[in-house]
Amino acid sequence: MSDAETFRKETHEWLDANCPPSMRWSEGEAANPTLGGDVLTWGGRKETFPNPETKQWLDLMAEKGWTAPTWPEECGGGGLSKADAKILAQEMRRLRVKPPLVGFGLTMIGPLILEHGTEEQKLRFLPEICRGEIRWCQGYSEPGAGSDLANVQTKAVVDGDEYVLNGQKVWTSYADASDCMFFIARTDTEASKHAGISFLLVDMDQPGVTVQPIKLISGYSPFCETFLEDVRTSRDHVIGGEGNGWAMAKALLGHERSMISEAFNEGENRNQLVDLAREYLGCDEGGRVGDAVIRDQIAQLTMNKACLDLTLARTKEGMKLGHQPGAESSIFKYYATELNKDRSALSVGILGPQGCGWEGDGFTDEEAELTRTWLRARGNSIEGGTSEIQLNIIAKRVLGLPD
Ligand SMILES: Cc1cc2nc3c(=O)[nH]c(=O)nc-3n(C[C@H](O)[C@H](O)[C@H](O)COP(=O)(O)OP(=O)(O)OC[C@H]3O[C@@H](n4cnc5c(N)ncnc54)[C@H](O)[C@@H]3O)c2cc1C
Repeated sequence: MSDAETFRKETHEWLDANCPPSMRWSEGEAANPTLGGDVLTWGGRKETFPNPETKQWLDLMAEKGWTAPTWPEECGGGGLSKADAKILAQEMRRLRVKPPLVGFGLTMIGPLILEHGTEEQKLRFLPEICRGEIRWCQGYSEPGAGSDLANVQTKAVVDGDEYVLNGQKVWTSYADASDCMFFIARTDTEASKHAGISFLLVDMDQPGVTVQPIKLISGYSPFCETFLEDVRTSRDHVIGGEGNGWAMAKALLGHERSMISEAFNEGENRNQLVDLAREYLGCDEGGRVGDAVIRDQIAQLTMNKACLDLTLARTKEGMKLGHQPGAESSIFKYYATELNKDRSALSVGILGPQGCGWEGDGFTDEEAELTRTWLRARGNSIEGGTSEIQLNIIAKRVLGLPD
């Protein structure tokens, strides 16, 4: 047996023996990742773990370093090669094992610290991310800085070994549930717009941090306004060096856009849509979805997703050769989020009048959830940079078109 086969066998056996029942996707949940996610954890000091098996699974996986399988062991990761990490992911999928930990620590700030942090920063922040001890949020946007992100006005002024922070962030996802924020602030008001920015980390559990949730069209409140008034952070908590925040912000956006496109490209949407269409629109004599227009739309969406999957697979092969996601991540961010909007719009279209439900009598919970998912999907092409901005980036930096 080769080393890879031995690793696969041992991994399979360990996962099967240790993963608690509630941390496995049921068949229905596996087909639709928006279901069954209520036992997933983002970790952090405020997490109460209503499902004890979530905590048990997190601790077991963190002990093996498998919450961040490819990160170095001294940073809390598993030290696995990309090939072994792929085997682990495949066996987790085969056994329908849920991820032990999700969140911006693993997908955004962790990878940035790994690439650009000092050794001290890596040892200080990464192990606690891997153990799910700290939950992170992202403080980029401000009332006057969204697409024009370099216009940030939050100020960080040096005071001895610390910065004093003053300003307002907006659309800070999960700020109310987070412990720390990674953000950009102006450390030099004399320098040019892009050069005066630094990328900082701040603990939110201190006086001067005020967080106010904002309600979305879907009925949920996943993000907040965050006010900083004489808040302090150490000068050691600058990533990539003072004044280098714009480069760091863009590097992190590369990770964010890859994460968003992968998250919204999960699931086997053809079967879900076909099942839904059969249920609501019936079948013809040959057992096909009865409505020919809907059938065409499902086929088109399935082909578009297949194209995206193949392009993603090609890029991942390139990454094995050391090519890091740069401006190209905008292609995936743009296409996966537009596709997710199309997919959720088609689901609601299939429901017909049953897709107009919100709450109360006359609609099942699943119908109302699909409607809310469709409304939430409208934000996909805004968060992490709007579709228009992705198209600008693709035009200029991928295709090399003139301004
Ligand atoms: C669900 C969700 C979660 C979010 N989470 C976070 C978070 O955790 N942290 C965070 O910091 N931010 C977050 N954001 C904010 C998000 O990054 C911004 O909303 C986004 O960058 C757009 O900025 P804006 O809202 O200020 O819109 P604006 O920048 O004002 O844009 C308004 C419109 O003008 C268009 N536009 C602007 N400039 C151009 C241009 N040069 N060319 C063509 N069109 C242009 C835009 O595409 C858009 O349609 C989140 C947003 C959403 C919807």
